[in-house]
Amino acid sequence: MTVARVIVDVPSRDTDRTFDYAIPERLREWVEVGSRVAVPFGPRKLQGIVTALADDAEVDRGRLKPLEEVLDAMPPLSAELVALGEWISRRWLCPLTVALQAMLPAALKGRAEKYVQQAAGAVWSDAEIALSGGLLLALRKGKPLKLATLLQQYPDQGALLKLWLREGRLEERQRVEDQVSVKTVLTVFPVETEHLLEAAGAIPARAGKQREVAAYLAEHNEPIPLAKLAETLATTSGTIRSLEDRGLVEIRPVTEDRDPYADRDFPVSSPMRLTPKQETALAPIREALDARVSRTFLLHGVTGSGKTEIYLQAIQRCLDSRREAIVLVPEISLTPQMVERFKSRFGARVAVLHSRLSHGERYDEWRKIREGRAQVAVGARSAIFAPFASLGLIVIDEEHETSYKQEESPKYHARDVAIERAKGHGAVVVLGSATPALETYEAAVYEGRETKLGETGYIALPERVANRPLPRVHIVDMREELKLGNRAMFSRMLADAIRSRLEKQEQMVLLLNRRGYATFVMCRSCGYTAACPHCEIALTYHRGSQNLRCHYCGYSETEPKVCPSCESPHIRFFGTGTQKVEEALAATFPGIRVIRMDVDTTTEKGSHERWLSEFRERRADVLLGTQMVAKGLDFPYVTLVGVLAADAALRLPDFRASERTFQLLTQVAGRAGRHELPGEVIIQTYDPEHESITFAQEHDYLGFAERALVLRNQLGYPPYGRLISVTFSHESVPMLLSIGQQFASALRGKADSLGIRRDFDLGGAAALEVLGPVASPIARLKDRYRFQCMVKYRGDMNASRLVSETLGDLADAVKKGGVQVSVDVDPQMML
Ligand code: ADP
Ligand code: ZN
Ligand code: ZN
Repeated sequence: MTVARVIVDVPSRDTDRTFDYAIPERLREWVEVGSRVAVPFGPRKLQGIVTALADDAEVDRGRLKPLEEVLDAMPPLSAELVALGEWISRRWLCPLTVALQAMLPAALKGRAEKYVQQAAGAVWSDAEIALSGGLLLALRKGKPLKLATLLQQYPDQGALLKLWLREGRLEERQRVEDQVSVKTVLTVFPVETEHLLEAAGAIPARAGKQREVAAYLAEHNEPIPLAKLAETLATTSGTIRSLEDRGLVEIRPVTEDRDPYADRDFPVSSPMRLTPKQETALAPIREALDARVSRTFLLHGVTGSGKTEIYLQAIQRCLDSRREAIVLVPEISLTPQMVERFKSRFGARVAVLHSRLSHGERYDEWRKIREGRAQVAVGARSAIFAPFASLGLIVIDEEHETSYKQEESPKYHARDVAIERAKGHGAVVVLGSATPALETYEAAVYEGRETKLGETGYIALPERVANRPLPRVHIVDMREELKLGNRAMFSRMLADAIRSRLEKQEQMVLLLNRRGYATFVMCRSCGYTAACPHCEIALTYHRGSQNLRCHYCGYSETEPKVCPSCESPHIRFFGTGTQKVEEALAATFPGIRVIRMDVDTTTEKGSHERWLSEFRERRADVLLGTQMVAKGLDFPYVTLVGVLAADAALRLPDFRASERTFQLLTQVAGRAGRHELPGEVIIQTYDPEHESITFAQEHDYLGFAERALVLRNQLGYPPYGRLISVTFSHESVPMLLSIGQQFASALRGKADSLGIRRDFDLGGAAALEVLGPVASPIARLKDRYRFQCMVKYRGDMNASRLVSETLGDLADAVKKGGVQVSVDVDPQMML
């Protein structure tokens, strides 16, 4: 192959295709699908990724510019990952380079020079040294040399260089600006032992220390760090260096992996004896693993039902068949305790990938995977791209978590990527949750329907392992409190409960669902909230125009002065922040110790974990916070969980609002009382009959899901219909409206010409409707106004392509006007 097809790293519509480059002779060995290369592009030099190779015959080679450099000895992406990137770019409508770059560790994105060096303990025959034509002599000096330089200086040795890199006698390293630089340790390598012993005898007696060192090395005969050797034998590095002068040892720098968990000891854990229920749950997973067929399972188990132990044993099974496993965990639950469970079972075979690692640490962990030194990757969303060669299993814990969807481009969902990746590997996907996403649940439970997840098996674990009871959940009607004259944040029941915990020196968690606060209108007397009559979505209050708007369809009404339902004047915006609650706690319960955890107190690296461990050490009575306190809650002394305003999330202008609320409440409820002390949950709400709340009180997922799915079906929301949101932004509103309307009518026209119905009634036939353009819920961002169109469709059609084509037709107008467009396929967040 002499031609490389390259995607250059410029994320624009114009460059979203491959460009052909001639592969110069000296680089033939090195250019593969997935290689990172430097290429000339007009007057510039750009980085790119090779996505295909071609022969001379296929192109007019005479006109091709040659590519300049290969940036890594080992291509960072495989052909499999390149194909996955192509799938992602089609699925979520983003330039291919954006999808490919998302798979690379950050350390590989900058201008990073690659180096080659000798591996620790590498041995060469004289013949090899001779064959290498000076290459080995250069490398054996110990200093890493630039890959690009080596390829230029030793063009004939390319094949050998590659062979030795693959064998591991040579290593590829990266040195970028300090933070990614690898740590090196000066290491003493003894020469052959027999010779050493003999030579030790010949050392003059006055150099007694040198003799001692030589004898020690002869006995141990393995490389040892210089500092450690000096310390062990109470000598100086000078003494050891004189042995080097005598030719008895070699001292070379050796790179060390920065293992962020190196200073932690993980107790070894061995597989538990599964309960019969766990055994039954594991069986179909094991069967699919053994058969090496790609299957997806939903493991629906309440918190504490032993899902993690099932993951661990499935991973073991996978490793036994010499295949690899990926475990995805929401970023926020990727705590040291979580990591410990995997490290304890699989030790050094585990690589951990999360965003709190430095670029360099993350790169080291990634390399362990790429080079086959780790077989299990545990990480947040992007760990789905772990560069394994033969994947057997992908586990997604808490699969309903919204953090699996990336909110910036590529706007992929890790669950969908997992299923796609697993197909190619014949791998098994296990989606675990106590409160599965309705889409996942629907796909697993209602068989015989074609869904985007394909065939999903359903495995239920409805009980906790030791039959520990789920905690009792009380619901407090805050309207009643108001009637009785209690205007405080805490109901009488919650206040009493807090007081009693303080007396007993037990701990509590208070959850305030702050998101979406000041944006909806609610009556404090009757709980009425304004919703769109067409979409069943809470109306959003727009301060500027003082009206209420539906941001799905554009419906609007004026701000009410009295409650349309009960005529109470207590209709107002809801608005309390965690800080206000903290003040109220201090005022109501003098001396109470509170840890407040929200976006403001957790921006600093590591602060999240620090707060949690402080709380664990019982240095506070109350852990107060937003959603983030609900995750990873597992504290033995927590006996009370209070939810201050369960309603808040219900009023988000999002059709998933009630699902999210149910998930959150079930999650906190399931977390209390996991240990000896029984737990109690108190939920304060203005809407005690809402099914998100009543079903959560009963820990009744199935009941909730049945109800919610009926509604989804009626309104054509996922999983029965699908959405694509298209957001336009610009400084000028008229410009936006004009572009938005052009888009909407062009897309409607396309649908009409294809005979796709636009009325989205209950018939079930393929249909597509375009809602909007309307002001986005975040109507203005950085001085740019935002309008969106929501494309809602159902049935067998490639709606993404229709949207993409429509935008393509508008591209000139959009570009000329300076309008920015962003597309979200299957959006998770409607804000
Ligand atoms: P989940 O992941 O579903 O929340 P875990 O795997 O954390 O559940 O299990 C809950 C608790 O039960 C843990 O303390 C775990 O050690 C314990 N456990 C799980 N499986 C078993 C088993 N087979 N025998 C005894 N204890 C178990
Ligand atoms: Zn509406
Ligand atoms: Zn009212």
